[in-house]
Amino acid sequence: MRAVLFLLLAATAAPAAWKAGASKVEITPKEPVWLAGYGSRTQPSEGVRQPIYVKALALEDSTGARSLLLTFDLLGLDQGTARIIAESVQKRFGIPRERVAMVASHTHSAPVAGTVLLPAYPLEASHVAVIERYTDWMLERVTEASEQAVRALAPATLHFGQGFAGFAVNRRRVGNRARPGPVDHDVPVLGVKGSEGRWRAIVFGYACHATVLSDNQVSGDWPGYAQAAIERDHPGAVALFVTGAGADSNPLPRRAVALAERYGETLGYEVADVLKQKLVDVAEPLRAAYREVDLPFSEAPKRAIWEDRAKTGENHMVRNHARAMLAMIERNGKLPERYPYPVQVWRFGNQMKMIILGGELVVDFAHRFKGEYGADDTWIAGYANDVFAYIPSLRVLREGGYEGGGAMIPYGQPSPFRWPVEEIIAETVDQLITATAAP
Ligand SMILES: [Zn+2]
Repeated sequence: MRAVLFLLLAATAAPAAWKAGASKVEITPKEPVWLAGYGSRTQPSEGVRQPIYVKALALEDSTGARSLLLTFDLLGLDQGTARIIAESVQKRFGIPRERVAMVASHTHSAPVAGTVLLPAYPLEASHVAVIERYTDWMLERVTEASEQAVRALAPATLHFGQGFAGFAVNRRRVGNRARPGPVDHDVPVLGVKGSEGRWRAIVFGYACHATVLSDNQVSGDWPGYAQAAIERDHPGAVALFVTGAGADSNPLPRRAVALAERYGETLGYEVADVLKQKLVDVAEPLRAAYREVDLPFSEAPKRAIWEDRAKTGENHMVRNHARAMLAMIERNGKLPERYPYPVQVWRFGNQMKMIILGGELVVDFAHRFKGEYGADDTWIAGYANDVFAYIPSLRVLREGGYEGGGAMIPYGQPSPFRWPVEEIIAETVDQLITATAAP
């Protein structure tokens, strides 16, 4: 009996060979700046409802390999901004590209940063100057957060579990109740515990737009309130939010501060509950892979059509988009026919894997990959490494609508994707899943 008990204990004790360090640095703007996510705003921010942050979790396994998760209370990072961060992390800390993951919460109440969704806004040159100033300042805060997390590396254990929360509603049903309404209500949680026995970092996920609020006050929307609730209930811990495949989900009902707070508290309750359950101890090492794979665009309109739209387009988005396309033709002689799409896999021991994908990922990808790789231990992250478009499944691409192609206009892309997109992504994910499997 005693021997059996000993074996059980030995089997469940988490190896303490991990090192972890976490940090948070405020990125709340210090001056009025255009807020991201809606084309309907007509002026820059008018106040701050809640501070916003960049957060960092540095991990080191006993092979000495370091990895860095960066999470942002921002709509997204564009390709150029993400590359600047990844290169700086590599230079300063020797952490290679596949071991840097950058995930945005997609809050629609944080500043426009870089060039994400730029054609969506009616900006003047003075607004653009503020956005550029904010982006440069924000990048310095990212360096600060990364340095603090790496400096804080100390022995830790990692623990994984999942819960549920129900406020995400498939938003494509809102306009058409005949459509299927898939959602992903999973709440994956990775708890990082210091050797003193306290939570040092709590990484949690949910697949839903951060669009409860639409006024001109800076905030993290419900992910901001969720992180605040988790940090309040677990003193000393940094809460990092990893957005899931929520491109076609909205938090409903919405448009009241009380609802943003309520959804934040809902996730706070659920995360606390998951951390009290029997968690899976996560073993080393962390194996990582990263690849950019070309996604094909469908044929774009000819120059004369862009010239016409730039003058007579029905709103500022269509006109901005047409001007951006003309500028691209001017610069490169033609429009791009494909886009390099970032695919990343982090495999934690044999206990859990994160599939980390760029763009606004629709929920079908979560169901497909959880089906293929295991619902109990597969974590799907979207809005990672480059937010440049919606990423529709074949179903959503065929159905059309905003997520199926319409959103290419505010995102400044030439045309909707071609049908093979889902299969190209799935094949690349599968290659990286294989590449990161235990030898
Ligand atoms: Zn969105």
